[in-house]
Amino acid sequence: MSTKNKLVDFRAVREAVSMEQILSHYGLLEAMKRSGDNLSGCCPIHKGTNPTQFRVSVSKNVWNCFSECKRGGNVVDFIARLEDVSPYAAAQKAIEWFHLDPEKVYTAGDRAPNKPGAMPVAKELMSKPKPETAAATPPVTKAESDAPNPPLKFRLDKLQRDHPYLVERGLTLETLVDFGVGYCDKGMMAGRIAIPIHSVEGQVVAYAGRHVGDPPEGTPKYKLPPGFRKSLELFNLDRAKAESGPLIVVEGFFDAMILHQLGHRKVVALMGSSLSPAQEALIRHFTAHSDQILVMLDEDDAGRAARGEIAARLARFAFVRIHAFAEEGQQPEHLTADEVSALFS
Ligand SMILES: [Zn+2]
Repeated sequence: MSTKNKLVDFRAVREAVSMEQILSHYGLLEAMKRSGDNLSGCCPIHKGTNPTQFRVSVSKNVWNCFSECKRGGNVVDFIARLEDVSPYAAAQKAIEWFHLDPEKVYTAGDRAPNKPGAMPVAKELMSKPKPETAAATPPVTKAESDAPNPPLKFRLDKLQRDHPYLVERGLTLETLVDFGVGYCDKGMMAGRIAIPIHSVEGQVVAYAGRHVGDPPEGTPKYKLPPGFRKSLELFNLDRAKAESGPLIVVEGFFDAMILHQLGHRKVVALMGSSLSPAQEALIRHFTAHSDQILVMLDEDDAGRAARGEIAARLARFAFVRIHAFAEEGQQPEHLTADEVSALFS
């Protein structure tokens, strides 16, 4: 097939090529020290001399430079950095070097190659809510209907996508661009990871600022703009509503982003461990009686305390299941792709 005017499917390229293959291509693999899942060595990008500053996780297929570059990424990012070319050009080099199947690594220009139906459905739902589900929506309280979160009049731009913390959390560049997430170095969210929160109509109503790493005592993990009411929103609902299949309800932004990245796109985050009446109404609005919902909160005291009640409330209008993890402290963001597909098998 002709590859002119085709979009590169970055995910397919990343899945087809390993960091080891890339390092080997450049003749860099032999100089790397292997220890378990990790390779370490001098950073070939900034041409460092310290052999511990550049690291590769073989299983995650990502790299990180903890020195001058202060960044990391996937195989495509690595080629892009090393060659100083765009991610598109980098992906094309990988396709050429490793003779990747053009049928698999190019798409016809669809933004969501795995789900060609997703975009039109989203449009239809945005312009015209389904009357039968609208009728099933319970009345919202006066305070809530009076004061929705207003759309923001600005956007945080120049966010750094390939921040090491985001790589460490397992998010790919594609996911970060998709969710508009990145490290912010100025303004209200300076020094934090900015995560846009969209209303159900898809307008940005706030940015959540995640502290990079564990915050010191007294510093909140998340910063939200004053006046913003998170109880009125469900993170990712604007897009999840257009997807089919079971809905997964999780606590955090990262849980939702990782599940989305692993292919389960019908996922929303409560942004905490409680379900507000407005959030319940939102889920109800986009749920039919035969739909399934999986409540998957963190395996900790707060998650265990909340999930029974949340499931009971949702069970009034859908089939609801609770997912309990085998080990204390486990969270949806730690699931593997296989574990995610096993959830509904
Ligand atoms: Zn470097």
